[in-house]
Amino acid sequence: MTGAAEKINLLGMPKEKLEAFFESLGEKRFRAQQVLQWIHQWGVDDFDQMTNMSKALREKLKLVAEVRGPEVVFDETSKDGTRKWVMRMDNGNSVETVLIPDGERGTLCVSSQIGCTLDCTFCSTGKRGFNRNLTAAEVIGQVWVARKAFMPFDINDRPITNVVMMGMGEPLLNFDNVVDAMNLMMEDLAYGISKRRVTLSTSGVVPGIDKLAEVTDVSLAISLHAPNDELRNKLVPLNKKYPIAELLAATKRYFARLPEKRKATIEYTVIEGVNDQLEHAHELAVLLRDLPCKINLIPFNPFPESDFKRPSMNATRRFQTVLNEAGYVATIRTTRGDDIDAACGQLVGRVDDRTRRSQRYIAVQQVNP
Ligand code: SAH
Ligand code: SF4
Repeated sequence: MTGAAEKINLLGMPKEKLEAFFESLGEKRFRAQQVLQWIHQWGVDDFDQMTNMSKALREKLKLVAEVRGPEVVFDETSKDGTRKWVMRMDNGNSVETVLIPDGERGTLCVSSQIGCTLDCTFCSTGKRGFNRNLTAAEVIGQVWVARKAFMPFDINDRPITNVVMMGMGEPLLNFDNVVDAMNLMMEDLAYGISKRRVTLSTSGVVPGIDKLAEVTDVSLAISLHAPNDELRNKLVPLNKKYPIAELLAATKRYFARLPEKRKATIEYTVIEGVNDQLEHAHELAVLLRDLPCKINLIPFNPFPESDFKRPSMNATRRFQTVLNEAGYVATIRTTRGDDIDAACGQLVGRVDDRTRRSQRYIAVQQVNP
């Protein structure tokens, strides 16, 4: 190991961890606040530029710590303004991060793992296998890189107003690192994004949802994709372990403990001839009747290894109408950035797969046994 590799990377440390770090150096805890602002609000990774700390402290920090973000290997903006970065995390692996501007809003879609173990049949990330969890620094590093790309900007200008954990990977299977990173997203001294504008999307890791409720109140999106277990088992293999009834019960528990009324987001990838029939929409309307929620329909985005097809816009609208008439707020997610392969489910990065398909299902079985 080189000396540099042994240094502590401060990028992924939320406030309490950074305070503990300064205390361990025999320094005042408030240094954490200064360093948080330098790193996250000003995008500074060089201790010498942190001029409100003494030279002696900066020298001390240089010996033991570093601020190391991911390396950008690709940065392209689509015709519609969607911007995609490919960030290299280590020699064989990279992830993709996408910024979707929409009027005043800028939504950053962040990855949580290199690949994914869960192997949903319609998802290209799942098809690429799995290598490892991202560290907290690698998760927040995606926000850090994206924000730096807009510097210098007025502190009141916010290129990133929302973050969704909807890139590569299952965030609840990388629990601690994702929670640390989300805490930094919401931290006033870092990105100051409100809890309603930070969304974790899960394919249904039920114990993870309950655990999440103990530590945070970010927004929650559930990738449902089917109105019954028989169909969902085929699309989301994890459903065999945590079937729909358990998933919806956990979702209800997550929101029931909050003092204010908030709604879950139900994501439903609409696939032609698979889950797009009007009966499916009716069944979904009945299934969700006790859950305060809004429904987001995502027309399937094709990718080379898949035989599934994207439904026509008319078919998706008919599906939406059934839900609207049943009293739901149901929206259709417009496809953005598909000329640069930045749409949902097209994010693949580069995954040095360490699983074999046969082992991947075992990984599903081992999720919180
Ligand atoms: N693993 C998490 C978060 C990442 S996937 C989850 O499954 O929720 C983010 C969203 O993109 C999910 O709702 C997922 O189902 C959807 N998605 C995956 N592949 C897709 C595709 N090919 N077309 C459209 N949506 C897709
Ligand atoms: Fe993993 Fe989500 Fe893709 Fe399923 S949809 S394989 S959980 S990233």
